[in-house]
Parts: sequence; structure tokens; C-alpha cells
Amino acid sequence: MERPHNFSAGPCILPLEVFEKASQSVIDLDGSGLSILEISHRSAAFVEIIEKARALALEQLNLNNKGYKALFMQGGASMQFLMTAYNLLEKKAGYLDTGTWSANAIKEAKNFGNVEVVASSKDKNYNYIPKQYEVPTDLDYLHCTSNNTIFGTQMKSFPETVKMPLVCDMSSDIFSREIDYSQFDLIYAGAQKNMGPAGATLVVVKEDILGKVTRDIPSMMNYELFIKRESMFNTPPVFSVYVSMLTMEWLARNGGVSAIEKKNQKKSESIYSEIDRNPLFKGFTEKEDRSMMNATFTLKDEKLAPRFDELWQSANINGLNGHRSIGGYRASMYNALSIESVETLVDVMKHFEKTI
Ligand code: PMP
Repeated sequence: MERPHNFSAGPCILPLEVFEKASQSVIDLDGSGLSILEISHRSAAFVEIIEKARALALEQLNLNNKGYKALFMQGGASMQFLMTAYNLLEKKAGYLDTGTWSANAIKEAKNFGNVEVVASSKDKNYNYIPKQYEVPTDLDYLHCTSNNTIFGTQMKSFPETVKMPLVCDMSSDIFSREIDYSQFDLIYAGAQKNMGPAGATLVVVKEDILGKVTRDIPSMMNYELFIKRESMFNTPPVFSVYVSMLTMEWLARNGGVSAIEKKNQKKSESIYSEIDRNPLFKGFTEKEDRSMMNATFTLKDEKLAPRFDELWQSANINGLNGHRSIGGYRASMYNALSIESVETLVDVMKHFEKTI
């Protein structure tokens, strides 16, 4: 059976060669006769894997030798909503409210101190990225979400925060485009989009922003402790870290972030130009804020949905339904999705127009 064209929002498509290597390693890790699932996380083999994964993450973000440490943690990006505040929020933090995930981050941070929503796009159901706003100077940090997975908006530039650390949730677009990652002081991302299976969360943190809050931080919430223990304070999510390492190796072999960005641009241009051309569809977001990862769109006439759904499903397309909070459709086009898959979807949209 041919593999479906998988447009799922996450967990999502990963490279087939990564699935193949990972499945071999479940039986026999690199000829050791042991499964990746049964070796000790303290074994030389696994220490090598996590060290490689940590190094590859910094390398792909071009953050080597710039004072950053890469950690693999558990609890998903949702755990980072509170962990960032636990470690960094003393008095007041600023947040950009650009979607459901930012709103969740804001809610968690309020447990630790004052939170100022510096700008919000809630007034238009988060279909744009706020632009004209002033960042107060008395914040412990400013938090933003680079890509809003549900609504399909993406920040193309980031506020300048010379006076405070900039924290960014990059769960759904990490490793997808070339930006200056050194403008951020802390980046976090759940693995389950561009990196690997759910279970691990990558945290890349600049060491010099830590150790400034006065509260006691429990061990499992403490970045400094995780740095000291080389990301092995307790048993890490072994399989997710391993597959993340394989995916980052795949990315490096294929030209890294700059090459994948070109491919991602092609994919997103292809889908958005069809959304704009085809009279049956309309895009959900403002054009200038469109995400390269998640294209959200609706049918102008909702009554045509059963017909369109039948067409894409019979073209072996999977995971195109929009999130329940906005409805319609969402084509998630993460790094491992091929251009051919996007072309298949575009062909279905064209064919749909002809049959109406
Ligand atoms: N932030 C963003 C941008 C996300 O897309 C998601 C999940 N889709 C989350 C946070 C929450 O991630 P997790 O389920 O790993 O807690």
C-alpha cells in the first residue's frame, strides 16, 4: 500500500528513512544485539546518542559556542509554559498573545508573577500577528510563539529586546527556516513536529539568563540542574531522543535548515497560490502572516464540504481537517512532507473546482 500524504498537525510525518532506521534499532541498535528500548540510559551507546542529539540541535540552529546549552526534557511544550516562568519570572513577564498555545503559556505564567499581555490578536480570532506595539522595559523576559499551529500564522520578525531575555515557543516551526536564532535566549519545542516522536521537548537556553530568581526551584523544573547533569538528571525519553537525533542527522545530510527552508517555501507557495486562485476557497489568515508550516483555509460554501472531503480522502490524503476552534482545513507541511504530497493536494483542489 502506498503511504498516505500525511498533512497531520502533530504528531506528524517524519522521514521514511528515519522510521526505517528507528524500527531496525528497536530490534538491534547498531549491531549491539540489544534494542534501543532495553539499553541503559547511562550506557556508553545512549550517552553518545543524547550528546549527538544535543550537539546537532545547537549546530542546526547555528548556536555553537555562543553560550547556549541544549536539553531534552519531558512534559511536552506545555510543561515549558510553566517551567520558563518558574525559572525566569521574578516580578513581571511580557507575553505576545497570538493563539491558543500562547494563551495557555500566559495562563501558566500567572502562577508565578505578574503577566503583561504586550499585544494580542484575539480580537480577530488570531488570524494575524500583531505588529505595532511597545515592549515595556521592566520585564523579566518577553515570551512569543514563532508559529501558531492552530491558526496558521507565523512571526516573520521578532521584537528587539535588548533589555530582557526573549523566550520563544518554536514547537511547530523549529528547524524549518533560517533566522538568527541567537536573538532568543530560550527556545523550546515539543519534538513531535519537525524533530521526532512525542515524548521529548528540546530546550535551548543561554546559560547566563539562569539563576536570577529568588524562589526555590524543584529539581525536575530546574534548568540549571539539568544543564549540570548533561540533560540526564533522571531517565530521559530515550526513544524520542534517539529518533530526534536520527531526524536531525537526516536534516544535516540534506543540506540543513537553509536547504529545507527552500523546500518549505516551495510547498507553501504552491498551496497558498491555489487557495488564492481557486474561487471555492479562502485563506483564514492575513496574507503577510501566513505560516509556512500550517496553511489554514475554508470553503466559501460550507455545503460543498462532503464533496471536497470525499475527493481528498480518495486521493490518499490524511489529516487535513482544521482544528475544532476554527474549522475548515489545515494543511500542515512539516519538513519531512514532500513537494509531491502538496502537489497532490493542489491537484485535488483544482479537480474539485472543475466538478462543481
Ligand atoms: N506550542 C505549540 C506552538 C504547539 O503547536 C503545541 C502542540 N501542538 C504546544 C505548544 C503544546 O505541545 P505539547 O502537546 O507538547 O505540550
